[in-house]
Amino acid sequence: MKKAVIILSGGLDSTTCMGIAQAQGYELYAVTFDYGQRHSIELHCARRVGEHYKVADHRFVNLQFLREIGGSALTDPNLDVPLSGIGEDIPITYVPGRNLLFLSIASSYAEVIGAQAIFIGVNALDYSGYPDCRPEFIERVQSAITAGTKAGVEGRGVEIQTPLLHLTKAQIIRKGMELSVPYELTTSCYQGGEEACGECDSCRLRLKGFAEAGYTDPIRYRVRP
Ligand SMILES: [Zn+2]
Repeated sequence: MKKAVIILSGGLDSTTCMGIAQAQGYELYAVTFDYGQRHSIELHCARRVGEHYKVADHRFVNLQFLREIGGSALTDPNLDVPLSGIGEDIPITYVPGRNLLFLSIASSYAEVIGAQAIFIGVNALDYSGYPDCRPEFIERVQSAITAGTKAGVEGRGVEIQTPLLHLTKAQIIRKGMELSVPYELTTSCYQGGEEACGECDSCRLRLKGFAEAGYTDPIRYRVRP
């Protein structure tokens, strides 16, 4: 059976990737990163999503070093998560180097278990403008992984799959609904409370996506704009 490593945050996009990888017939290996994110409730969600999909293995990787260096509102408690809506600049919720680290570690794992694919739920349409979610970044990491791994140079390298890259949030949710993705188990809020805030960029994108897709988001919000 072909194998896929899914970078699973416990959020909407990565959980949709679980559904897509399963539908494509992959045996699922989840990897979840604990990078000191203030929304650590994500880790609980990721665990539940992994259980839901009966993954062959679920690795939790400690990247708390990202919290020590800070530089992002998601990892530095002294910086506030912006609640005023999505602007034009790359917001302070950007975590320096996050997806480069995630893909690097996922590719190590994939090589060792002999996986054919890594799924990552990056999205370059309804997103906050993070540069490590854009196609040009993914293409270059793919080249580096192919050139820099034993599996890659021997012609059985891992392929980075980004099935959500060019979809709107509404399209992602429609696809997920078709695949019975358990969105009630997920969270997207950057603030990480028991209830989602409804005001951060991530909540706004998620709520807008559900509204456009014609569904009601099953999770609880403090504020529904
Ligand atoms: Zn929020």
